Amino acid sequence: MRKLIIFMMAVLAAVPAFAQMKVFVTIAPQKYFVEQIAGDKVQVGVMVPPGSNQHSYEPRPRQMADLAQSSIYFAVGDPAEKAWLSKLASVNKNLRIIQTDRGIKKLEMEEHHHGHEEHGHDDHDHDDHDHGMPDPHIWLDPVLVISQAKVIADALAQADPMNKNFYAANLNGFTNRLKAIDKDIARITQASKNKKFMVFHPSWGYFAARYKIQQIAVEVEGKSPKPAELARLIDTAKKQKLKVIFAQPQFSKKEVETIAKETGARVVFIDPLAENWETNIINVAKAIALQ
Ligand SMILES: [Zn+2]
Repeated sequence: MRKLIIFMMAVLAAVPAFAQMKVFVTIAPQKYFVEQIAGDKVQVGVMVPPGSNQHSYEPRPRQMADLAQSSIYFAVGDPAEKAWLSKLASVNKNLRIIQTDRGIKKLEMEEHHHGHEEHGHDDHDHDDHDHGMPDPHIWLDPVLVISQAKVIADALAQADPMNKNFYAANLNGFTNRLKAIDKDIARITQASKNKKFMVFHPSWGYFAARYKIQQIAVEVEGKSPKPAELARLIDTAKKQKLKVIFAQPQFSKKEVETIAKETGARVVFIDPLAENWETNIINVAKAIALQ
């Protein structure tokens, strides 16, 4: 198999760059997944640029033009994609849209009522994920990534059957690494006395469920907490003796800083959208466990 891979890579090196298949993904971690399977046989465009929030992103005209050249769109299953996908289909009739969340049983976004006030429906400034909505953050659990990687590999093999064995071999290698990462994170989180972590945007629901730790969201139904809710969070952080409050680069860190200041905790950034997925997910596990 190894010889086969080396042979395939040699063939690949001989293929001119314009022969690369173009594909698109929604978020940077998916680019990482596709590249583990396809190597440089494909050129991967990422819809949501660094620093942007995928739940409220709108494709730029240049990206729509790039999509006209693409063969596959790997959707992650975020509600925001629904608005784009029909547009994508209209700029490129040959674009195959692959739902990489296929077969994944979604968790619900946690109901984070920190207070008891009722929110009127008309004050919803964005409709990404309220309580009761399916949690879209499926790429932050290594076990669920095994399933997404399989969907990606199948789609690549179907679009490019000549390289079927190459994709299958890479999928096999990546799956083994994901299993090892899952074991590592389980070991890191089990060894830790700390089983709770507070984070602004609740991106880590699947991660927390997998490793039996508890995510406490600062954000309330996709919005910043009101003063009473903030006070309650400060209380919780004190009671739980949290030494770290987590922020994420795509969201405001104002409330996180307030909680940290009131409780003597530090603010640490964890990024659910980092492209270097393998390094990042281990670092996040360590940051949560060792706080
Ligand atoms: Zn999110």
